[in-house]
Amino acid sequence: MHDSFIFHELGEERNDYFNAIAPPIIQTSNFAFNNFDDFQKAFHDPYNNLFYSRGNNPTLAILRKKLAALDGAEDCLLFGSGIAAISTPILALLKSGDHIVSVARPYGWVQRLFDVMLPRFGITTTYIDGTDVDHYRAALQPNTRLLYMESPNTFSFELQDIQAVARLAREHGAYSMIDNSYCTPLLQKPIALGVDLSAQSATKYISGHGDVLAGVVSGRKELIQRIYLSEHLIIGAGISPFSAWLLLRGLRTLPLRLKQVCETTKTIVEYLHGHSAVDRVLFPWGIQFTQQPLAELQMKDAGGLLSFTLLDNSLDKIKIFANALKRFKLSFSWGGYESLAIPYSISLKEEFNPANKHHGLIRLYVGLEDSKYLQEDLEQALAAVQKA
Ligand SMILES: *Cc1c(COP(=O)(O)O)cnc(C)c1O
Repeated sequence: MHDSFIFHELGEERNDYFNAIAPPIIQTSNFAFNNFDDFQKAFHDPYNNLFYSRGNNPTLAILRKKLAALDGAEDCLLFGSGIAAISTPILALLKSGDHIVSVARPYGWVQRLFDVMLPRFGITTTYIDGTDVDHYRAALQPNTRLLYMESPNTFSFELQDIQAVARLAREHGAYSMIDNSYCTPLLQKPIALGVDLSAQSATKYISGHGDVLAGVVSGRKELIQRIYLSEHLIIGAGISPFSAWLLLRGLRTLPLRLKQVCETTKTIVEYLHGHSAVDRVLFPWGIQFTQQPLAELQMKDAGGLLSFTLLDNSLDKIKIFANALKRFKLSFSWGGYESLAIPYSISLKEEFNPANKHHGLIRLYVGLEDSKYLQEDLEQALAAVQKA
């Protein structure tokens, strides 16, 4: 299926709504039935029928068709946030006594799910360095039911061999799941590599405008239906028709935005590599990236997020840099128009340790501004660091 067909036509039944070019926002909580039999049928099959917007809704249905097709999956579910699109399926598929093997340092709230919430229900997690599939293999226990990936990681950008981890999970009778937020299905297709569930924070690139929280998880119909009928409807962490509509609007320009973001990011990576105040630059693409062959095997491109450290790696200098930025905004999240910066050190509970390879990282999100405009901001902020 051509991507342009997905963005433009798939799921859009324009004859049903006055041939409107833009899809409708069906802002309703419930749907009425013409007779007893239809009502009864819907009640007993809430996956395939329209009756209540905590489950199905026509605006959501358009978006689901498009996002599932982009993922190359049979179906997907929409959530009110990316973290709900990760936590809800895990709660649906695991039970007390199960064990997870997860890549080290997943997204912070996923780590909280594994460390704080799931242990209350008797589910334990082992973290491993995911750059080698053998580390996953070595951590397997008879009760391991989930192999969890985030590739690339969104601060230090390590990759996992997605196909190898998915195969290992299958051999072991466990599920495989990935957080694909960095790439989106445009740049990486985990379902085609054999992963059971591919999740992403749609708050980032799918929205693309920093104005909606949402998440999506894709997979086989049998799995998606199971998640839908249990935790999705029970926890009720679904998405509103208006948010779904904003995502439909964002999707139309996703390929263009992503292309621009990838292009501009590379100019910023190159600029930082050549700067005398900069030490390491971390970016999951190009000849400097240690996992380049794997990146080229499973990703189409990379962009948006990159991290770097200052040559003078101290908390004082990181603060000077952060406070000098004007065009890069100090903020969480990413994927919208605005370029953003976040020093890893804002999250530290312990003392800053320059020898720790994560503490000094400053992450940039390169948005849609002109690359020269962004370079000028970095130039003056790095000059401030060197002058201090
Ligand atoms: C933002 C993010 C999430 C969570 O998404 P929300 O929409 O904020 O809930 C999960 N994983 C990664 C990698 C993220 O960047």
